[in-house]
Amino acid sequence: MPGATWRPIAVNFTNNGQAEVRGVVVHIMAGTLSGTDSWFRNSKARASSHFGTGKGGALYQWVDTSDRAWAQAAGNGSWLSVENEGVGGDRLTDDQLDANALVLAWAHERYGVPLQVATSPSGRGLGYHAMGGSAWGGHTSCPGSRIVAQLPEIVDRAEQLAGGTHHQEDNDMQLDDAVKLGSWVPKTFPKQKGLQDGEISVRTALGSGYAYAHIAADNSTAILAQLGAQAATIDKLADALGGGGLTAAEIRSAAEAGAQAALDRLGSALTTPEG
Ligand SMILES: [Zn+2]
Repeated sequence: MPGATWRPIAVNFTNNGQAEVRGVVVHIMAGTLSGTDSWFRNSKARASSHFGTGKGGALYQWVDTSDRAWAQAAGNGSWLSVENEGVGGDRLTDDQLDANALVLAWAHERYGVPLQVATSPSGRGLGYHAMGGSAWGGHTSCPGSRIVAQLPEIVDRAEQLAGGTHHQEDNDMQLDDAVKLGSWVPKTFPKQKGLQDGEISVRTALGSGYAYAHIAADNSTAILAQLGAQAATIDKLADALGGGGLTAAEIRSAAEAGAQAALDRLGSALTTPEG
């Protein structure tokens, strides 16, 4: 998934085993992202998930979504899974809500997953481990009632992600063209913290993390178009130079560092979460 850090594992999944994608299942790790990352590489674990988040906003992908991760027993073949750093009774952090929303919005785009909360294995949308009952391993406290109460907020944020660029496309052909060219698609996050009146927050996948920039709403269309065009340029450059000794990923990473510097020069309030 674009925007996730690809951390493939060699064991603990079923190759080509995803029969369908009814939705995304939210879990709690009862541990840390780094601990989970090493546990999933141990063949004794007999467990994995497609995605994992850290409290600071890191988003890992361990298993390709055409392969079946081992996260919720009988629900594995028809649902994607997200493990979240934390222990029982925790709430997801604001950054984790964003990361889960990114996965749901992508599953919506890619697999037509409806942007709604699911409450049983026969439903579709954003579900949670406990909803599967004993058939899903009887994990009645995963991810916990506090996180289940946050699922509507994740759906809300996924709707903003899914709708954000469409809204802009209606108004501006230049942005529409730029977005079609680039895989690095700017998304708007109207709810991002610290916004002043008249500003919007723009979030772009940048290397293994994200860049957030607060920009004046008046300028947003032009800047989003610029970011989209820049992304397309980076991709084309990386593909063109990929045969010259450096890998396409190395070139892309160097170009993205340049883009980050350009964003800094815009004088934007810019933060990059861990990861
Ligand atoms: Zn679980």
